[in-house]
Amino acid sequence: MENCLFCKIVKKEIPAKIVFEDEKVLAFEDINPAAPVHILIVPKSHIGSLNELDESRTELLKPLFLAAKQIAAEKGIDKTGYRTVFNTGSGAGQTVFHLHLHLLGGRSFAWPPG
Ligand code: AMP
Ligand code: ZN
Repeated sequence: MENCLFCKIVKKEIPAKIVFEDEKVLAFEDINPAAPVHILIVPKSHIGSLNELDESRTELLKPLFLAAKQIAAEKGIDKTGYRTVFNTGSGAGQTVFHLHLHLLGGRSFAWPPG
C-alpha cells in the first residue's frame, strides 16, 4: 500500500524505534505513548483492519499475539499485567488503517475502557 504509514515503517522508509522483527511481524514504540510501555505490533503485509480479515488471512494474527507475549516478558510487564487492543474503525479510535495490535503496560488500566 503506497500511502500507508505503517507499510512505510515496515519498509524502513520512515524511522521507528523497533523492538521486535521477524519474517511476518514488526513491532515498534508508539510515537505518542498512552502508557509507560506502548508498543504497536503490525503484520508486514498490509491489511486495513479486522474488518478485512477473512479465513484466508487468519494466519496473520498468530504471530502478532506471540510477539506481544514475548515483548511483554522482555519489558517486564507480563506479571503486573498488560492490555492488548485492536481499534477497529474511527468510532473505536482507529487512526492508522494498517492493522496493529497495541501492547500497553506499566500502569494500571480501568475497565470498561473510555
Ligand atoms: P490507532 O489510533 O488505534 O489507529 O493507533 C495508531 C497509533 O499509531 C497511535 O497510538 C499513534 O500514536 C501511533 N502512531 C502514529 N504515527 C506513528 C509513527 N510514525 N510511529 C509510531 N507510532 C505512530
Ligand atoms: Zn499498510
